[in-house]
Amino acid sequence: NNKNLKSKATHILAIANQKGGVGKTTTAINLATALAAKKKVLLIDLDSQGNSSTALGVDYTNREIGTYHLLIDGTIKDEMIKDGIVPNLSLITADENLAGAELELIDVPEREFRLKKGLETLTQHYDYILIDCPPSLGMLTLNALVAASGVIVPLQCEFLALEGISHLVKTVTRVQKSLNPELDIRAIVLTMYDKRNKLSELVAEDTKAFFGDKVCKTVIPRNIRISEAQSYGKPIMLYDHKSSGAMAYISLAKELMRRFQ
Ligand code: ADP
Ligand code: MG
Repeated sequence: NNKNLKSKATHILAIANQKGGVGKTTTAINLATALAAKKKVLLIDLDSQGNSSTALGVDYTNREIGTYHLLIDGTIKDEMIKDGIVPNLSLITADENLAGAELELIDVPEREFRLKKGLETLTQHYDYILIDCPPSLGMLTLNALVAASGVIVPLQCEFLALEGISHLVKTVTRVQKSLNPELDIRAIVLTMYDKRNKLSELVAEDTKAFFGDKVCKTVIPRNIRISEAQSYGKPIMLYDHKSSGAMAYISLAKELMRRFQ
């Protein structure tokens, strides 16, 4: 029924930053939800903590088959794709098994290409595939970077934020040169922005000076409603659609859709 929403190209976007707590999962779930108002979206939870699976209301009992099996088997099966609480947004869930995948993949041939291979037959069904990466640059994130057509970097407006992503920038360049020529940092999203805090403003200025128009015009404010929503297992739009957080993620989705057209 939703197939007719599908347009031509599929954008596979890795949401990555090796630092934890910067807003990767928050951006993944809320951007995916906002995009799903207009597009067919698949969210892949690539973090063994399974936070995006939880935030989209997929029960633990319904997570036995997910990204772990996708990576280890290297093929997609229908039962890996779950429906969460958001229409037009499907999900491949993660659980603690995924933590072991990093090691198990060491002996697997073409181990950096597992996710890419697994997703090949899926792209025709989705306009956007978002990948919520773990807080490291290990084999899981590498799989995401190889499968992706672009990277979205959430950047928390804090001291040394830019220094913190220099390793990610180098990794993206390396992957682009060797494994995935298509890869590029497509967007930097400033998260947890506090307009009363001078530091937020300074970090934003520095980031724009360095990354230019890769930095999204939409800035995500620090908004308590966002973290509340997550603790209720909901994206912000389904919890408080009038909050500054909800409006920011809706505006981010619009900005990115324009950019990717
Ligand atoms: P990551 O996935 O990078 O580890 P998360 O998205 O899980 O980071 O965010 C870390 C914490 O910060 C979570 O508790 C989340 O609810 C909270 N958080 C993220 N973005 C915001 C925001 N804009 N305003 C308030 N809290 C936020
Ligand atoms: Mg996370």
